[in-house]
Amino acid sequence: MNRNESLYHLDQTPEWDLVVIGGGASGLGIAVDAANRGLKTLLLEKNDFAKGTSSRSTKLVHGGVRYLQNGDISLVIEALRERGIMRKNAPHLVRDLSFVIPSYEWWSSPFYGLGLKVYDMMAGKLGLGPSTLLDKDETLSHIPNVNKEGLKGGVIYHDGQFDDARMAISLALTATKEGATLLNYVEVIGFTKENDLINGVDFIDRLNEQKKSISAKVIVNATGVFSDEIVRMDQKNAKPLIRPSQGVHLVLEKKFLDGPHAIMVPHTSDGRVLFAVPWNGSVVVGTTDTPIDSSLEEPIALEQEIDFILENAGAYMTKKPKRSDVKSVFAGLRPLAASNNKKESTKEVSRHHKITVSTSGLISVLGGKWTTYRKIAEDAVNTVQLVGGFSEKKCNTETLAIHGYDPTTNWSEPLHCYGTEREKIKALDAAGNTSLSKKFHLTKNQIHWAVKEEMAVCLEDVLARRSRGLFIDAYETEKIAPKVAEIMASFIEKDSNWVEHQLKIFKPVLKNYQL
Ligand SMILES: Cc1cc2nc3c(=O)[nH]c(=O)nc-3n(C[C@H](O)[C@H](O)[C@H](O)COP(=O)(O)OP(=O)(O)OC[C@H]3O[C@@H](n4cnc5c(N)ncnc54)[C@H](O)[C@@H]3O)c2cc1C
Repeated sequence: MNRNESLYHLDQTPEWDLVVIGGGASGLGIAVDAANRGLKTLLLEKNDFAKGTSSRSTKLVHGGVRYLQNGDISLVIEALRERGIMRKNAPHLVRDLSFVIPSYEWWSSPFYGLGLKVYDMMAGKLGLGPSTLLDKDETLSHIPNVNKEGLKGGVIYHDGQFDDARMAISLALTATKEGATLLNYVEVIGFTKENDLINGVDFIDRLNEQKKSISAKVIVNATGVFSDEIVRMDQKNAKPLIRPSQGVHLVLEKKFLDGPHAIMVPHTSDGRVLFAVPWNGSVVVGTTDTPIDSSLEEPIALEQEIDFILENAGAYMTKKPKRSDVKSVFAGLRPLAASNNKKESTKEVSRHHKITVSTSGLISVLGGKWTTYRKIAEDAVNTVQLVGGFSEKKCNTETLAIHGYDPTTNWSEPLHCYGTEREKIKALDAAGNTSLSKKFHLTKNQIHWAVKEEMAVCLEDVLARRSRGLFIDAYETEKIAPKVAEIMASFIEKDSNWVEHQLKIFKPVLKNYQL
């Protein structure tokens, strides 16, 4: 991935078969699939890849036990199948994680145990392991820091876990390998039309503020919660297609969970589920489901969401987390496909994806889950073939390895998520392999790799998405940010003004991750 090379392709290509707007899970998945089926594909992302919702998930590759409770069987079956495919194609990025549901009532273990047997059955051959009932002692040996008062036992089940932003970057690399052209920091600002049919996009390169237009046979809007803005560039008075809902996570130190297993609370005070998940040496706790009216690029966690998580998580932990224990807080916006039932709460809105085609030919991809990104992309590219009149080619992504594919992954190796690339990173400079932080792993070589091979442009790209410091410990990130900016500057030949500017624009983002 090289931004200058992408800009060169842009100038050399008179017409694209497909332009994808948005570089989150959906857009990147579509770019992989479309390029693999032979379409001349360009993806434009207005910020960095996965800057939106796709870096702010609970990090689960899951069927969704909660959707089973809601009776959304077809979604669970689809997501369980996709979970298995994702694990098979990206064994360096998706791992098996066991979840324990602690029981405090006599009926809850058999009740959830039965539901989880159904969940196991639905996963079929792609299952990650059978769920089992645990007695009180077994529950405590799995999750030693769970609240012991009134504990009766528990149930253990299996789902997948991943690093969402790393998966996004790996998809971007896969798409590039398949022949797609990708650009970050390019914002689509309008469409060109002929006879009322869309035939191109106008965009602005945010790094030099230059405007350009390009021609395309088909355009896909994969902009998540910003989808309605794009739809209105096509049809001014279009009805909203998206209902955004905010979800917040708090990141705590490992000691609050102390063990390799996650906790799943099946019924919080607002009737949702809550997870406490070990991730990158910390614990991610969340989430909430708060309907919101306006979509911000950097969503802000509400006080009541923070209190809700601390209170509900605290009820299940021996050591109750306080505000001062929170190392990072992040909020994400679910791009839920709006239903006709306006009274439905956002937690009841289906997580199924929808694909729409406007009268001028704009394809919009709405809703969905990270877990189902591949199926969303398959459905979207099938629609692209129809709308563009391209010859129908079969989707191959069910068996397409994701960049870095490594079935022998050692999860305790800090660079495991780079898969087969990790040795190349370590070999860049023998002296560049020491971590700049004790709280998370980030080396000079990783920074070098991020700017050289992964299109990292800004300081935030390195600290938030090429590595995950901002999400793991925003206070520690603040400490190492000047050093990281200087190292970046040395690799891209920028001066101290650039370093100063990067620190200045990163500061408000950083503050949003600190309580
Ligand atoms: C709190 C929370 C927890 C979740 N947890 C999970 C989970 O554990 N597992 C799971 O499977 N799913 C989970 N999800 C769902 C999952 O994260 C989302 O479904 C998925 O990330 C959405 O991806 P997307 O590509 O549609 O949107 P996004 O990731 O938001 O991507 C859209 C992109 O479009 C870009 N864009 C917008 N306007 C323009 C423009 N004009 N020009 C160019 N680019 C533009 C944006 O910058 C953005 O990067 C969670 C969601 C939330 C909110």
